[in-house]
Order: sequence, then C-alpha cells, then structure tokens
Amino acid sequence: MAEFVCTMCGFSYREERGRPGEGISPGTVWKEIPGGWVCPMCGSPKNIFRLRGDGRSGGGADGTSDRRDTMAKYECGNCGYIYDEEKEGVKFADLPDDWVCPECGADKSEFELVE
Ligand SMILES: [Zn+2]
Ligand SMILES: [Zn+2]
Repeated sequence: MAEFVCTMCGFSYREERGRPGEGISPGTVWKEIPGGWVCPMCGSPKNIFRLRGDGRSGGGADGTSDRRDTMAKYECGNCGYIYDEEKEGVKFADLPDDWVCPECGADKSEFELVE
C-alpha cells in the first residue's frame, strides 16, 4: 500500500495503517479519504500531500510500457504452487483475470510476488 507525505511538515499517512483515531480505518486508500481531511500535524489540506517513493526511474509520468526485463515468480498463497514467468513465457500480469492456479484452482489474487 502507498504512503503519502505532507510536504509542509513531513507527516506521513500510510494506507495500511489508516488513522483509526480520526475514523479512517486501516487499509483506507488515499483517494477514499474525505476531501475535507487535513494533516493532523499542521492542518494542511490533502492536496499538498505527495506520494512517497514516486518516480522510481525519474519523471513519474505514467509510462505505457511497463514491461520489466526481469522475470518474476509468483506463489499461490493457497497451495504454494510457483508460477515462473521465465518458464511459462508469459508475464503474470498478462494472464487473463479468470486464470486460476493449476494446482488448486485459487484465483490470481491469491498469488504473491516471490523475490
Ligand atoms: Zn502536515
Ligand atoms: Zn494454488
């Protein structure tokens, strides 16, 4: 999940943590936070926050060619089956949404990237 940082005071909002004390439950993504929400530290509005870690390879423009050269592996969270992009020759992200684990039939969302 993403982290957004107040450019005014450096306060950071982590989507996975939320702000339970302010009625924002953990896992609330940035765009779902009400527009009237302000930085709890300095009172600045949402629109001055910036995504942390944005622009890995400079620019931050939404590139259309998102293909990385490195092939990754994905593990089924249900049965442990490993999907190896190199072996299969197809990027995991390019698999159809209705693709399921060949071992247990779990759907794509069960899979996690293996480093
Ligand atoms: Zn702030
Ligand atoms: Zn599986």
